[in-house]
Amino acid sequence: MLKNYDVGIIGGGIVGLAGAIYSGRLGLKCIVFADELFGTLAKTDIVENYPGFKKISGKELTKKFLEHAKEYDNKFVEKRVDKIIKNNNGFKLCVKNKCYNVKSLILATGSNWKKLNVSGEKAFLNKGVHYCALCDGPLYKNKIVAVIGSGDSASKEALLLSNYAKQVYIIARKKFHPEKINLEKIKKNKKIKIYEGIEIKEIIGKQFVNSILLTKKINDKYVLNLNGIFIDVGMVSNSKLAKLIGVKLNNKKEIKIDKESRTNIKYVYSAGDCANTKFKQAITGVGEVVKAVYSAYEDLK
Ligand SMILES: Cc1cc2nc3c(=O)[nH]c(=O)nc-3n(C[C@H](O)[C@H](O)[C@H](O)COP(=O)(O)OP(=O)(O)OC[C@H]3O[C@@H](n4cnc5c(N)ncnc54)[C@H](O)[C@@H]3O)c2cc1C
Repeated sequence: MLKNYDVGIIGGGIVGLAGAIYSGRLGLKCIVFADELFGTLAKTDIVENYPGFKKISGKELTKKFLEHAKEYDNKFVEKRVDKIIKNNNGFKLCVKNKCYNVKSLILATGSNWKKLNVSGEKAFLNKGVHYCALCDGPLYKNKIVAVIGSGDSASKEALLLSNYAKQVYIIARKKFHPEKINLEKIKKNKKIKIYEGIEIKEIIGKQFVNSILLTKKINDKYVLNLNGIFIDVGMVSNSKLAKLIGVKLNNKKEIKIDKESRTNIKYVYSAGDCANTKFKQAITGVGEVVKAVYSAYEDLK
């Protein structure tokens, strides 16, 4: 006989883990599925805006969430859910050939890095093209790199890379607009140079990347020589599973939720980077998942 869980959470990032903490506190029997435990936040170096922690690494913060979630009777399955079957009693969440019954479902599946979609991006993946400075930055000791992006996460990636590389270019398609505090840090950092209003036309190399072709000149040239680029042009909601069970998405493929984190399908909730909320931060996602768990608790009653 399959065990019945009150709540199934798909996602083991900070948001899914926070959901497990609240489920545990409310006495809901909860199972968490994580393709990659800790998720995106664990791939950022320093977090300085999570209330209660002046400065903590993303990995350490998410580890604290896991430790807290393990205080309760939650089950963790570190595998990818590849199928959801809806039935009269709730949902079957299937991992390879094994399925788990849950009465309610919280989708905290996060997002994936957006691609630039330029020539060379695929061919040089991990050969000079990267999406995560914490993961791959140490490969660029005393080298020249560029961060492609204009938001706050691009600024954080550039600051981290400046610990390794001898030169870091930030290339923003429009205006570079990080948080003021990070902009100030960047302005003081002699290794980082900002270029705005420039797009990448092509990533060029032989075995590894050696340059990029730009739409506007830098140092009087359209070709900028470098060793690596880190692409940070936003994220795309990981909502494929949601779509398969009929959950409504917006035109950015984000899962539509109401102010209590309910989706259009009864007993299905969502929170965090995969949902259609404007401000995507750990704390906002955590707030949304708390609402999702309370809603599930109310609906199951
Ligand atoms: C460079 C960078 C720096 C950032 N800095 C900050 C910061 O300083 N402060 C801040 O608050 N926020 C920051 N953010 C944003 C923050 O990282 C995200 O808002 C947050 O991590 C979202 O968490 P999440 O749990 O919704 O998604 P994610 O962390 O993406 O987690 C999604 C989870 O779902 C799992 N999953 C997906 N599909 C499946 C499936 N089918 N089966 C099983 N598991 C699945 C994944 O494996 C993962 O465990 C930053 C983001 C970036 C990119």
